[in-house]
Amino acid sequence: MVKARRTRDQQRMDQGLITNPKDLERMQGELESLQRRITSLEDDELEVMARLEDAQTTVDSLTAQVAAIDERLAALAASRGARTAELDAELGTLAADRGPKADGLPEDLLALYDKLRATKDGVGAAALRARECTGCRLSLDPSEIAVIRATAEDEVVRCQECNRILVRTPESGL
Ligand SMILES: [Zn+2]
Repeated sequence: MVKARRTRDQQRMDQGLITNPKDLERMQGELESLQRRITSLEDDELEVMARLEDAQTTVDSLTAQVAAIDERLAALAASRGARTAELDAELGTLAADRGPKADGLPEDLLALYDKLRATKDGVGAAALRARECTGCRLSLDPSEIAVIRATAEDEVVRCQECNRILVRTPESGL
């Protein structure tokens, strides 16, 4: 718009349409003022273009970061999926394995075992090995050992410390 006005003024002067010296002088002044305005606007335009370029660089960098994060996320999701499938398969095997072993055990003993397992980090029964409870890793004192030794084989023995079911084996040290 500023340039169009400058051109129009210049043409009017060139065509000799302005004859009055005062008008001519005023018009000359206006032309100079328009030129200054054009220079200032061009400077502004350059500055805006430089800022636009900076902003575009930032956008490009952020876009690349988002793409990298998306890729990492997809890799983690795939790995989580694979691990979940592995654990599900393991769980299935363990459940299938437990079935026949639990068959024939008294209901109340199974119920006690499951209750303990739920509250004792998944370990409801522990082997008594070398006079130590493998559940809580504490040694049993001689009087406790004596009590266990005197207990019938089909009686359930519990650890006095952690309450877990103690399983007697030839390695129990009885
Ligand atoms: Zn114990």
